[in-house]
Amino acid sequence: MSAIHSSGVTDPNGRAATRGEQLLRRLLRGPAAPGRDHSPVTHVERVPARPGQPGAWPDWVAPLLVDRLALRGIAAPWRHQAAAAELAWARQSVVVSTGTASGKSLAYQLPVLSTLLADSRNTALYLAPTKALAADQLRSVRDLALADVRAAAYDGDTPIEERDWVRAHARWVFTNPDMLHRGILPAHARWAAFLRRLQYVVIDECHGYRGIFGSHVAHVIRRLRRVCAKYGGSPTFVLASATVSSPEESAGRLLGLPVRAVSEDGSARGALAFALWEPPLIPGLSGENGAPVRRSSGAEAARLLADLVVEGARTIVFVRSRRGAEVVALSARRSLAETAPGLADQVAAYRAGYLPEERRALEAGLENGALLGVAATNALELGIDIAGLDAVVLSGYPGTIASLWQQAGRAGRERQDALAVFVARDDPLDTYLAHHPEAVFGRPVEATVLDPENPHVLGPQLCCAAAELPLSEEDLPLFGEEAARALLPDLVRRGLLRHRPTGWYWTSRKRPAVDIRGTGGEPVQVVEATTGRLLGTVDRWSSHAVVHTGAVYLHQGVSYVVDDFDVEDGVACVHAEEPDWTTSARDVTDIRIATTVRRRDLGPIALHYGTVEVTNQVVSYLRRRIATGEILEEVPLDLPPRNLRTAAVWYTVADSALAAAGLTWPEIPGAAHAAEHAAIGLLPLFATCDRWDIGGVSTALHEDTGRCTVFVYDGHPGGAGFAAHGYDAAGAWLRATRQAIASCECESGCPSCVQSPKCGNGNEPLDKAGAVRLLEVVLAALDPPDREDHQGEPDG
Ligand SMILES: [Zn+2]
Ligand SMILES: [Zn+2]
Repeated sequence: MSAIHSSGVTDPNGRAATRGEQLLRRLLRGPAAPGRDHSPVTHVERVPARPGQPGAWPDWVAPLLVDRLALRGIAAPWRHQAAAAELAWARQSVVVSTGTASGKSLAYQLPVLSTLLADSRNTALYLAPTKALAADQLRSVRDLALADVRAAAYDGDTPIEERDWVRAHARWVFTNPDMLHRGILPAHARWAAFLRRLQYVVIDECHGYRGIFGSHVAHVIRRLRRVCAKYGGSPTFVLASATVSSPEESAGRLLGLPVRAVSEDGSARGALAFALWEPPLIPGLSGENGAPVRRSSGAEAARLLADLVVEGARTIVFVRSRRGAEVVALSARRSLAETAPGLADQVAAYRAGYLPEERRALEAGLENGALLGVAATNALELGIDIAGLDAVVLSGYPGTIASLWQQAGRAGRERQDALAVFVARDDPLDTYLAHHPEAVFGRPVEATVLDPENPHVLGPQLCCAAAELPLSEEDLPLFGEEAARALLPDLVRRGLLRHRPTGWYWTSRKRPAVDIRGTGGEPVQVVEATTGRLLGTVDRWSSHAVVHTGAVYLHQGVSYVVDDFDVEDGVACVHAEEPDWTTSARDVTDIRIATTVRRRDLGPIALHYGTVEVTNQVVSYLRRRIATGEILEEVPLDLPPRNLRTAAVWYTVADSALAAAGLTWPEIPGAAHAAEHAAIGLLPLFATCDRWDIGGVSTALHEDTGRCTVFVYDGHPGGAGFAAHGYDAAGAWLRATRQAIASCECESGCPSCVQSPKCGNGNEPLDKAGAVRLLEVVLAALDPPDREDHQGEPDG
């Protein structure tokens, strides 16, 4: 516990209040505080200070490196850093899964740099999900001034003339999976010397590789292993991950190799007070179908930022979009201009698109106190070099518990107490978290979901692999033997591969065009109309909902409006614009069951997992005012229906069980529909997906099952593993769904519980009370109370 901040204030137990607790009390007294009767704080978790556990330098660490680290103020490694480094040095692939600012970099720098210093021919590779993070890590290595190491970046920004030098001379190459996939592996012959001597592959922030992208990256890594083996290389993998459940399993799935985990954090930390904050309802305002409206999380976060700055607390607010970050910074400055004019200039927005020098200047400003408050986009979560702040405010759930801790972990440092505040947005998952602290502070529940056997990922990846080196029988286990064998005949029939006695050969002279961040088919190109600049791509299936004419499209936090969406050509023309509304597409969906792969028959209830045919048509979109969520208008769209073959989890409820739940026939459609919406909202807590990665259909009577049926399906061709995970975690998932609905304070349904922003039916019919009863009969069969796995109760 830090003595500096325990300035005589005590809590009811006579304990000295930490700096974080003091700040929280000021917030509850400040202008952001609501009326007396309704505290927005639903829970405060007090994470105690932790003394560090120093380890010793392993005896193999190069003395020069120990000297250089000492100059940086590192006298000894923490115990977890030493443990991970020892495993890596012993050639055991290892994942370090510890908190933000716990020094994961040192865990891989020790073995990698020692190897590079020990033999001047050895090489290493570093992979990060973003260029910004790779640039930061490269800078950190270069700052050690170990000339012989020759660390260099090799990514989309590397000038062509530099690339030859990197291939020939660099010994530690910093890149990303996209560049490995597109640039390095297809040209492996030119990298032969590098790959032959490749000792280590570092995979940073590996929990970010999930869903379709993660499934592709899993194969890119398998391709790297295969190509290395051809040249005689056999690298050891060192992975860094946020705190996740079973890191060794997730990392093992990503690599296709056994991985050891080091997850006991030995770094020292000050105490953290972590508050869950639910903005109050705005009296007298009503939204869709008369639902109550909450103050927006952004408006609330801006007020907290202003109050914290007044307290002299160095604060960062994480917001989902660049526009959101700018609005938060602007409104905090405005309110400071009135209350504390001298402080308004000490608040800034910090977003993607800034040049590295601009980012460094902002980071330095926060470090030296020239800046006190910053509103940043979530996109920068990985690429920023800021830690040791007094307070962090999260405006909305960042998508995974891992990211939530990543962001909160920017608060506090060794011997310094701090505050984190999670401000819930108006949706079922945020609301659930605000009321279920055990889901945030208990053991992590979400698994990093990826499915390398998805045929829409595996097929193209087998083509990429065959184009690099012909595929032999011996290669198949690497890519998943059964799934690969099932797919190869089809790839041969389609003329992509040729089967010869020695294996499978890529037939074309052109390399396969595979987008590892999308799914199958040519992606839709998003083009800026005035400049012709290609901003990015959107996969075909999502495009109708995301870049239809009139859509507000966010790209790296920058807001664009779509002028025209050409379905045939797959091009969306956009212009930069930041209107004060957002758009959400509405669709109609029909679903047919193709095959049932797994099922649990529980009498009147049955749970299934299998393949479905989804027919989906985006029919209109809504414009909503950002500040209030108010619907401005619904605009019809003229888009064709599409078919999607994908994975789904569904449950059926027999009439007898519906009757037992007291549900009458007219109530059933609304009950099932409301249960479906909330289930989609909660699945991201159990499978690392976004609410937009999945879809659902509910019906009082489905023609394939003859029963009331609720489906939740993966919104990507072939599935990304989310529905499968929903099947496995059905008990916990549907229990959370029931709780989210039952505990919402609204009367008959609101965006916090059963309303969905993307509902194709205008959120009609929805029966909140009926959904609770429906879920209760499902849970009674699926997950009887005596079989519940307790995840710890909320304290207080
Ligand atoms: Zn509600
Ligand atoms: Zn709906």
